[in-house]
Amino acid sequence: MKIHEYQARELLAKYGVPVPPAMVAETGPQAERAFEQLQSQHGAKLAVVKAQVHAGGRGKGGGVKLVRSPAEAASTAAAILSKPLVTPQTGPAGVPVRKVLVAAGVDIRKEFYLGVAIDRAQGCPVLIASAEGGVDIEQVAHTRPDAILREPIDAAMGLQGYQARKIAYQLGFAGKQVGQAVAAMQKLAKLFIDLDCSLAEINPLVLTGPDEKNPDGQVLAIDAKINFDDNGVFRHPEIAAMADQTEENPAELKAHEFGLSYIKLDGTIGCLVNGAGLAMATMDLVKLHGAEPANFLDVGGSASEQAVTEAFRIILADPAVKGVLVNIFGGIMQCDRIARAIVSAAKEVGFKVPLVVRLEGTNVQQARQILEQARADVPTMRVGKDLTDAARLITEAIAA
Ligand code: GDP
Ligand code: MN
Repeated sequence: MKIHEYQARELLAKYGVPVPPAMVAETGPQAERAFEQLQSQHGAKLAVVKAQVHAGGRGKGGGVKLVRSPAEAASTAAAILSKPLVTPQTGPAGVPVRKVLVAAGVDIRKEFYLGVAIDRAQGCPVLIASAEGGVDIEQVAHTRPDAILREPIDAAMGLQGYQARKIAYQLGFAGKQVGQAVAAMQKLAKLFIDLDCSLAEINPLVLTGPDEKNPDGQVLAIDAKINFDDNGVFRHPEIAAMADQTEENPAELKAHEFGLSYIKLDGTIGCLVNGAGLAMATMDLVKLHGAEPANFLDVGGSASEQAVTEAFRIILADPAVKGVLVNIFGGIMQCDRIARAIVSAAKEVGFKVPLVVRLEGTNVQQARQILEQARADVPTMRVGKDLTDAARLITEAIAA
């Protein structure tokens, strides 16, 4: 599960990582008032207007803009809110922007990267840090992997002081900055573990220029991205409440509502399968025969006929789908239920594209009978003898 930057900043602040004051706005005039408040309450002379979308690279796409007056905040916010934001992570169509964050601007001396993720090889969380933070961190990771520091974290003990100090010195912090950087690292690690995160990153963590109160400058988080492990979200109702449904794929949301596991992919063969393992094997076989799956869809063992009909509706609503492959091994799932769902989907939506069905297992005879009797309703249907045969039939059918 993902959240917006403004929500991630709230969590960082709650854990004691310093973040500049900021306010959310949904219109130009709201952004104007936000700037005025930052001026009067925090003495801000400069602000940043930032698109709130679940995608990174906003700076490069024009979704992060410095502004110097309330009027400029209003016009900049209105412009960002008026059109989809295209960044290197969104695809060419971009994503709609419904909210912006107006944050007090910071005088940046240097940008660092700080993140915590799971290191699957080591089997533990890992702190990742770099003195080359900012908008080009992905590039740095590719071309100069030595510029990326890594430190394993013991999930029970947390990131230890000596570990954080070592990284802080390696990043080049000195004087009073060291303690601030160490605190930011340890707090980020604690947040990651406490909240069952899959990723918690601050990019950039910045060192500000010196001022009267902070002669060594200040270490601040000015961007934050936090993702959660979906399997842990039930333990944190306050995190679950942060979900923004408008950022999710509508088909995936619909599927979730019916208890189906559906993930949209880039290919042309819609797959309807029961069981995640069988779904993976089916996708492999589709690829082996030279086509690409349009989705991953596991209807599970106990889906109702209505849920399976919904699954067909989701697949058939995708214009990229040029053929549908049904692969069911009926253990708990009864094949006749799938067959009835095929017939009702055929009547309600219609299979205009080729359909290949491979059914085995519980109630398979009844299922075959149901499909045989409904041939007129499903004219594009063919039956595969086994999985390989079915994969071959569907890839041939879409090539024809
Ligand atoms: P991202 O592009 O989606 O990662 O958005 P960020 O919030 O990281 O902003 C991108 C870049 O904008 C940062 O790396 C900074 O260089 C710049 N930026 C963001 N906030 C400020 C600010 O308060 N002051 C200054 N001078 N630059 C900022
Ligand atoms: Mn960033």
